[in-house]
Amino acid sequence: MMWEDPTFNNFSIGARLLFVGMFSNADDEGFIRGDAGSLKRLIFGFDDNIKPELDGWLNEIRVAKNIHFYETEGETYAHFLKWDKHQKQQKDRIQLTQYPMCSICVASDKQVPTKVKLSKGKVSKDNTTIATPPSVASEIVEVINLFQSLNPSYKKFFGNNTQRGAAERMLKIHGLEKLKKLIEILPQTNGKQYMPIITTPLQLEDKMGMLMFNLKKTESKGIQSL
Ligand SMILES: [Zn+2]
Repeated sequence: MMWEDPTFNNFSIGARLLFVGMFSNADDEGFIRGDAGSLKRLIFGFDDNIKPELDGWLNEIRVAKNIHFYETEGETYAHFLKWDKHQKQQKDRIQLTQYPMCSICVASDKQVPTKVKLSKGKVSKDNTTIATPPSVASEIVEVINLFQSLNPSYKKFFGNNTQRGAAERMLKIHGLEKLKKLIEILPQTNGKQYMPIITTPLQLEDKMGMLMFNLKKTESKGIQSL
């Protein structure tokens, strides 16, 4: 793996140390905070005088092809590409990343962390997954953003495969416009008698039938119909 990687071997010794430190501290999906301050604390602890060198090492790593550095709302994150290749944990033990989606991946569609399993029958034996196309990825972002008024932790959904998967499946079935309308009425329906409480994409997917049924029933009672 990395020891034979030519990029890695072109790093200075310090940059290699930093890279290995990042690699071994990344979460199960290969994500980690990418700002110099966090990395210094995490990997070099109390070595206070290495800050200028660390910036230099970080600049070396920044241009490496197997890692993305990206910014979301003023915070810097990084993630390793082709992480699955290095991942030795059992798939069912993997903790989904809590970090936001990588904007570089979303824009380039190179390795969007959200992976869609091919529909049944098309699943190849090695469980091949395909990357989400960028248009779908941006719709998923839009859907998740709509949960802002329903759930203060909605940002976590960006990094959560389960929630992103639910958003993606609903987009496929209902389309963006209908889904938007549904999410927009949730603040009115949540807490109403007989209505399911829905604050996440997965809950919406699970309780869609019940929601639709009750909406039909209460149409005449002032809740806007779809
Ligand atoms: Zn990326």
